[in-house]
Amino acid sequence: MKAIRGAITVEKDREEDIKKAVGELLAEIKEKNCLNVDDVISIIFSSTDDLRSFYPAKAAREAGFSACALFSAAEPKIKGSLKKCIRVMLFVETDKKPVHVYLKGAAALRKDLTQKINIALDGPAGSGKSTISKIIAKKLDILCLDTGAMYRACALKCLRENVGFEDENAVKAVIENINLEVKYENGLQRTMLDGNDVSEEIRKPEISMLASTVSAIPCVREKMVELQRKIAQNSSCILDGRDIGTNVLPGAQFKFYLTASAEVRAKRRTEENKLRGYSQPYEEILQEIIKRDEQDKTRKVAPLRCAEDAVIVDSSEMTIDEVASFILNKIQEKI
Ligand code: C5P
Repeated sequence: MKAIRGAITVEKDREEDIKKAVGELLAEIKEKNCLNVDDVISIIFSSTDDLRSFYPAKAAREAGFSACALFSAAEPKIKGSLKKCIRVMLFVETDKKPVHVYLKGAAALRKDLTQKINIALDGPAGSGKSTISKIIAKKLDILCLDTGAMYRACALKCLRENVGFEDENAVKAVIENINLEVKYENGLQRTMLDGNDVSEEIRKPEISMLASTVSAIPCVREKMVELQRKIAQNSSCILDGRDIGTNVLPGAQFKFYLTASAEVRAKRRTEENKLRGYSQPYEEILQEIIKRDEQDKTRKVAPLRCAEDAVIVDSSEMTIDEVASFILNKIQEKI
């Protein structure tokens, strides 16, 4: 169970204004936290003493929150406090980190709760981005989005539909209607294609090169970038990819570019594949990594590039823990 906080100010002490404010606040909380009404266990409201014409709990019931326990209380008159303000606390059934919502005049009340952070982590294949972003996300209790998984799912979809990547119109038709979702289970990303979990299947070595090819097609990027921005807009998260700092979130507060020599990356990928049960010789992986780097760096749309304001981390001689602490320290210096 999680507790979500929120508040909103009301224009006038009138029934319709209170109903409107409560409806707006709950709708925003629901959307930002991806909640269904059934996920809500109880809602407690408090309102300042200058709001007397309607119970917020009653407004919540009328707004559709009728199955949960609702309660309203009046706040004492406190000198200097915000006027005409409704505060709320929802207890909900969710695994996600709560997104607290403060609207209108209440927006300035709890900057500590509402500050959203976006971290861009870019770099070539095998540089350790996904391992590092999972560690950072866990430490900071934020989401991590592996954007490469999304391009991998696009490649898998095209493969399943027998669509040749050279036929851009056919790819466009498939990608425009792709049923691709990113879900989180115990903080870990699950990539869903057509309602099925493809998180393991997209890691097959043969998908890697196809993902690189499909990701160079403009309509594919457009669609994926739109999805990525939506996720980043709604929650604090770390996104790992190739173009996050340069294209997806050029305004991200934190940007890192993680790299390592091609040999070190190929060695890591060989070990990783072994653990996943795929045996592919080191030499073959090295050649593939070199080819994929070249393809990702030279494509016309959003090529792999280090953002000018990104901190470069060369992990060739560093352990995972060293890279993670270096990045965490840089972030914590600023927040
Ligand atoms: O990171 P990963 O190896 O899973 O990515 C697969 C492919 O998806 C990459 O080779 C790259 O071409 C593409 N990609 C991209 N932009 C991103 C993430 C991945 O073009 N933001």
